[in-house]
Amino acid sequence: MATEVIVGRPRAESHTLRAEEERLRAHLEQRLAVRTRFAPLADVRALLVSPDRADRPKSLVVSSSASVAERIYLYVHVAAHIALGHHLPLVTIVEGAPGVTRFSDASRHREAEELARAIWWGQTDKGGLLGAPAFVQRSAMLRRLLASEATRGALRSLLIGMRHVYYDLRVERALAGSRLAAWLRDALCVTAVVSVAPQLSDRASAG
Ligand SMILES: [Zn+2]
Repeated sequence: MATEVIVGRPRAESHTLRAEEERLRAHLEQRLAVRTRFAPLADVRALLVSPDRADRPKSLVVSSSASVAERIYLYVHVAAHIALGHHLPLVTIVEGAPGVTRFSDASRHREAEELARAIWWGQTDKGGLLGAPAFVQRSAMLRRLLASEATRGALRSLLIGMRHVYYDLRVERALAGSRLAAWLRDALCVTAVVSVAPQLSDRASAG
């Protein structure tokens, strides 16, 4: 049996981030009947296509250029659209590039952003298990640091630095089951997602 050897520094997209992406994708499929696939899309980040009948699965096409962190954001955002009932039969919801509001249904996207933020921080039960890890949701300090661009960048650098230290010292095996390691993994995951989707940050915590 082959042994997996970690060579050099850990990748920016951690195992935790990829596992979280898979978990959310499975949640969409099992709970919301959304089948996800990836395709090259020009100018568009994702398309949610609703079938003619509610009992048929919806299809989510995500740009193959979307990072793992961005996919997580898109899943939460799309789940918010569904919770708001925007997925009408034969309607396609188009997710444009961040900050681009050239689509006519901008107000629906704004509503979905509001709900996605509440789902992410566990402020509503509409999202099921789609939110950030519970202890990150409970950490007022992390939420405050993630709420502004400057502190978000500093936090990310600090967390990545801490992870490098662990790998360099070869202590990750000893730390693997520790609460600190779990905190670090989840904090990095949440920071990566909020960095690509700052609209998820908890603005009430800013300032
Ligand atoms: Zn939207």
